[in-house]
Amino acid sequence: MTLNEALRIKNDKRMAEMNESDKRRAELHAVVPRIKEIDLLLDNMPLRLLGGENAEIIRAEDENLRSERARLLEATGFAPDYDMPKFDCPECNDGGYCGLKLCQCIKNMLSADNYQKSTLAGGLVGKTFDVFSLDYYTEGSERQQMEIVLNVCKKYAENFPKFDSAGMLFLGGTGLGKTHLSAAIANSLSTRGISVVYESAQQIFDTVDAVRFNRMDISERKKYETCSLLIIDDLGAECITQYSISSITSLIDLRIVNGKKTIISSNLSLANIKKTYGERLFSRLLGEYHVLQFVGKDIRMMKNKGC
Ligand SMILES: [Zn+2]
Repeated sequence: MTLNEALRIKNDKRMAEMNESDKRRAELHAVVPRIKEIDLLLDNMPLRLLGGENAEIIRAEDENLRSERARLLEATGFAPDYDMPKFDCPECNDGGYCGLKLCQCIKNMLSADNYQKSTLAGGLVGKTFDVFSLDYYTEGSERQQMEIVLNVCKKYAENFPKFDSAGMLFLGGTGLGKTHLSAAIANSLSTRGISVVYESAQQIFDTVDAVRFNRMDISERKKYETCSLLIIDDLGAECITQYSISSITSLIDLRIVNGKKTIISSNLSLANIKKTYGERLFSRLLGEYHVLQFVGKDIRMMKNKGC
């Protein structure tokens, strides 16, 4: 979604609500004719002021008419704001701007759209904390470990962006809940209007490559640098080249320098991350990231077998 599209959607909503409020006003006028007279008198006030009438007198009349209108609404059982337009955003009245500044509601729309694009592609909708079940983990140390993991993730989402590490590293084999919990964090932040980009390492490398060879606009790469939370799923499953290693290392460095949070999940062990990506990325992750070890058996397989 571009900025202009977001502004147009807002503006269409604004116009629709103005029409609705006009209809409610017409209905009100039909039921309480005196309110129609009052509204005509009120509408005429600015013209009278321009015509040079005494401002004090007009102000007093205006006040009296408004109180009478409020009394009539109450007496006839209408809400005090019955015919007022009800905009989604009280800051900009759905105009999209607060003075010259772009309103936060538009920024939220753009970031939610960005997130939806990335999650819909990965089928992550519906993966929330509420539906994450510890029952799939064997009672004892396994379940205890996953309870710790779950609680860290919940706290992380709740307190975002306050967290004592630049990022989190989710380690563990396939089907242990890494994707589910990263999606739950992403879903929770996204509903609060926080910009989240969730993509697999392969998608990120493909995009970085496409931008490098001018097949894609640079803004597609910029989102990895500027979003509040970047989730890199399945590091190690991508096609690994010297170039992909240096891109991921620079991206992670840049996000640390800019104080932006990142979550990386990987099926690789720490030793294999070091072997694959080299000392620089390894020491960065170990020094700056909070490592969460996922344990258990492949939940996807258990679900398929009907366990
Ligand atoms: Zn707004």
